[in-house]
Amino acid sequence: MNCAAGTVRVNRLEGERGICRASIPEVAYTSLTPMLKSYSLTLRGCSFKCMYCNAYCISQYPDSGWMYRGYVQPESMVQEALKSFKTSFARSRDITKLNFTGGELSIHILYLEAVTSRMKEEIPELKIGMATNGFSTLKTMKRLVKISSSINFEIKAFDDEIHHAITGATVGPVLKNVEWLMRKHPEKIRVLRTVVIPSINDSQVLKIAQFIQDINPDVQYRLVGFRPHFMFYYHRGTSKEFMQELVKSCKKLGMKKIDYSGYYPSENGFKKHDNKKGIKRAYSYLNAAGCY
Ligand code: SF4
Repeated sequence: MNCAAGTVRVNRLEGERGICRASIPEVAYTSLTPMLKSYSLTLRGCSFKCMYCNAYCISQYPDSGWMYRGYVQPESMVQEALKSFKTSFARSRDITKLNFTGGELSIHILYLEAVTSRMKEEIPELKIGMATNGFSTLKTMKRLVKISSSINFEIKAFDDEIHHAITGATVGPVLKNVEWLMRKHPEKIRVLRTVVIPSINDSQVLKIAQFIQDINPDVQYRLVGFRPHFMFYYHRGTSKEFMQELVKSCKKLGMKKIDYSGYYPSENGFKKHDNKKGIKRAYSYLNAAGCY
């Protein structure tokens, strides 16, 4: 089984590990999520090392050293999900969707295909949601899209240098995949989103917005307010005013399908759109953590 990103060739079934450090697909946990009306299945491991990751114990597994559930045979997973859909809790809350989250899902494409095809045999009308950071080969992205009803696609930055500083990976495959998705399967896009980290990547928002506008202005773009996590634990969160201003700026580009969710209840005190300082600041956090 080769790496989904296609940048390194490793045989994970033989115990080799690539950038994502994943071996066999492992389940972190499953849950019934009434708010999303879904049964959620979270898989461990990720192709990125986002400095702000709010799920870093899952995404950076096994390096994070946490204990989670582990490998579950696809058929056992299917039976478990089917059973959960039939519980009185699920029925009373109209839980009818299957959502996959991570970590990054594309690194587990074979497992996802095995589980979703069996689930579709049992429930043909089942809606399947996926979330991705977009970092895979186009071939893997096409397979992910094929088995999904809806996709949350996160674009973390537009400029390669910032993307690399925040995630540890180049932005090229992400932009290529999201462009393909916007052109070929806009109906599958639930939302394109960017987590806005003040003074680190806020300079990227308008560039991403313009990129989306140029390709498909009918796609929904959502800005998500950063909250301190992981390596940015001591970095201030994004205030409501800051988010609102960014939304306003996107609207000035002619963007109609733009909104935001989440903010931090304080002033962030940073100047906006400070591209060079953003990169410098990101690297100073990395230096302090001994990464560079
Ligand atoms: S892509 Fe998502 S799950 Fe992976 S490290 Fe980044 S924020 Fe965490």
